[in-house]
Amino acid sequence: MDVISVIIPAYNEEENIQMIYEKIIHEFLRLPYDVEMLFINDASTDHTLDQIKQLSAKTSKVKYISFSRNFGKEAALLAGLQHISGRAVIIMDSDLQHPPYLIPELIKGYEEGYDQVIARRNRKGERLFRKLCCSAYYKLINKVVDVKLEDGVGDFRLLSDRAVQAALSLNEGQRFSKGLFSWIGMEQKIIDYENVLRENGETKWSFSKLLNYGLDGILSFNHKPLRICFYTGTFILLLSVIYSALSFIHILKEGIDVPGYFTIITAVLLLGGIQLLSLGVIGEYIGRIYCETKKRPPYLIQETNIMNGVTYEKNRPRIYPIRDHRGN
Ligand code: UDP
Ligand code: MG
Repeated sequence: MDVISVIIPAYNEEENIQMIYEKIIHEFLRLPYDVEMLFINDASTDHTLDQIKQLSAKTSKVKYISFSRNFGKEAALLAGLQHISGRAVIIMDSDLQHPPYLIPELIKGYEEGYDQVIARRNRKGERLFRKLCCSAYYKLINKVVDVKLEDGVGDFRLLSDRAVQAALSLNEGQRFSKGLFSWIGMEQKIIDYENVLRENGETKWSFSKLLNYGLDGILSFNHKPLRICFYTGTFILLLSVIYSALSFIHILKEGIDVPGYFTIITAVLLLGGIQLLSLGVIGEYIGRIYCETKKRPPYLIQETNIMNGVTYEKNRPRIYPIRDHRGN
């Protein structure tokens, strides 16, 4: 039987591990595929890893990778994609917000020949403020970046082997998967589903984390923000040249009049603001270049039960040998 892998990033999800495992197994009972569940424990501080280990002791269907510290969900997804062995992969959160009942539909899309079968949620039940922010953000980002990003479309999707290879061939360190998956293109099918609210545990996304994630999305995909600075700068420069010329003519004709404080202050503040903004944007890009040039691995593995069947390619992070509690 062909194997389909499921990548499940988990950070402090102890209440959810057993449940998501059971639900996924339940779905696969009715499918002509074997399942390989790969949990990525992002250095949880609760008993998430113990829960996963208990499952993996019970069945070889459960594999895990545990990070040496919290590297974030993007790194977890990358680790997952690099270590799966199935023919296709489904990416889903561990908090059951990505409902496992959609698995058969995702696989059906794969059988129809699609390389990406994407689950798209609506925003039912979310707070109005978050809804408004998100919809404004997606309007903005689609104007600014080259790839198409859709509201409600996240990482919950099935990728064919080809799509996985394509996603892995983009080897940037600071990843924005949503955008990368859109960038690789290929045949795509969308499945709509009703938003599910989290029942156990808490979201790991604070407002500031979301803001940073949003900024990553804009900055990872092109240099348009730099260009916007350039155009704004040029526009302001033109305006000030015209203004100076007009003032000069006025002075020649009428002589100098003292008032002008308001104009000067406005000009200084406006230009100062624009300069700071532009510097900020440039700084962001330089920061990114700095991080990329260091070529640090995107994550480090503390512990895993994946022993065989994994090929290590150049530049892939190494797996540390499994240690048991005695350190052997
Ligand atoms: N997650 C992770 N590392 C982190 C934060 C989150 O692996 O640093 C996992 C988390 O366990 C969950 C998924 O990423 O499975 C999505 O996180 P969350 O539910 O907090 O995000 P939300 O659904 O609120 O966007
Ligand atoms: Mg969630």
